[in-house]
Amino acid sequence: MQRLIIVASLVASWLAHEPSLCGAADPLTVESDFEGASVRVLEIDEAKRSVSFMPGGDPVRGWPCWWYFRVDGITPDETITLRLRASTATLENRKPLSASWAMPAQATFSTDGEAWLHTGKGQRQGNWMIYTLKPAAASMFVAWGPPYTPSTAAKFVRDMSKTSAHAKAAELCRSREDRPVPMLHVREGERTKKHRFGVWVQARQHAWECGSSWVAQGFGEWLLSDDEEAAWLRQHAEIFIIPVMDVDNTATGNGGKNAFPYDHNRDWSRKPHWYETIAAQRMVGGLIDEGRMDVFLDLHNPAPGDPSFFYILPKEMLKEPMISLRDRFIDLAYARISKIKPLIPMSNKPKVTGTSYHPLWRQISANWVSMNGNPHTVSLCLETIWNYKNSTTTGYRAVGANLAAAVQEFLATRPDR
Ligand SMILES: [Zn+2]
Repeated sequence: MQRLIIVASLVASWLAHEPSLCGAADPLTVESDFEGASVRVLEIDEAKRSVSFMPGGDPVRGWPCWWYFRVDGITPDETITLRLRASTATLENRKPLSASWAMPAQATFSTDGEAWLHTGKGQRQGNWMIYTLKPAAASMFVAWGPPYTPSTAAKFVRDMSKTSAHAKAAELCRSREDRPVPMLHVREGERTKKHRFGVWVQARQHAWECGSSWVAQGFGEWLLSDDEEAAWLRQHAEIFIIPVMDVDNTATGNGGKNAFPYDHNRDWSRKPHWYETIAAQRMVGGLIDEGRMDVFLDLHNPAPGDPSFFYILPKEMLKEPMISLRDRFIDLAYARISKIKPLIPMSNKPKVTGTSYHPLWRQISANWVSMNGNPHTVSLCLETIWNYKNSTTTGYRAVGANLAAAVQEFLATRPDR
């Protein structure tokens, strides 16, 4: 009898720890101890199988709209509910950031950390945005958009340099927190530097704008493809691609935009603060000195309701031939990007970033390059729509590929060097 009781209690305690046999699920847990992660967990409701959370970023390091974490303990085929509310942390103006920046219509998730998919549409309930999903795995990553970390950038430039003899994995510099800033350097053939157009592509001066890095990657992938036009561009130009400029805020899951003491994209002054800005300004300055700063592209994601569009300086502030060349490039890029299938909505009307846009407008990178560049320099900021069903890794990379093809089409009409 004694023995039977012991056996029965052993079985009971074993059953209690083997939930699949008695119907209970493993506890849901949240993990954010990895590169790029950001979350503040408010509540995990085991009965409802829901996680309530807000973005975890520190406003001193930029707008706290980015979130990215892993949920473990999922029973395959169960529905998990994510309840998101905006960060309550206050900004410089003592108010929290408007919730819409943190709340994509569809969240992004992955069960392997590589293939990123959209959830169904979230439902807004008061201060909350509710996403439900059935991941069919014990663990899933969830994020504001498809993550792209400094490690992703390092892997991308390494992979490109392995598959193409014309690509070199390089480093722009090391950051203030001593992280490497990966850069892809592309050139093909024997043409000397002075006979090559200079093309500069940088993304992610704002760390939360992950889509812009995927656009930069798509640019590089097209550039190193078998396409004849891509080969022409490699042979006639020297191209620099930096998929993540602000590696420190990207790695730590902070927003970057409006960070203290300067937003990266308002740091293009005589004395920049961030090491990435110092290094980029020096290299771009070198291209300007050599008279071959031909195309400068700064990649971003816009406000939640915006389509894709270019930011430009008002005409009155520029001289010819810069204005006509810029307008021609915009036409070529728009013609291609607006035809992408499935659709990536784009406006053919650029927005203006002049004196009225921001007090530090002169220190915005694309403006700085326009104002300090060569007479023929085309320098633009491209904002790629993020809050849209096709704002996926595939959609973003298609934008990059078409942008690169537009650069080729544009340079092919310029006088040979
Ligand atoms: Zn931005």
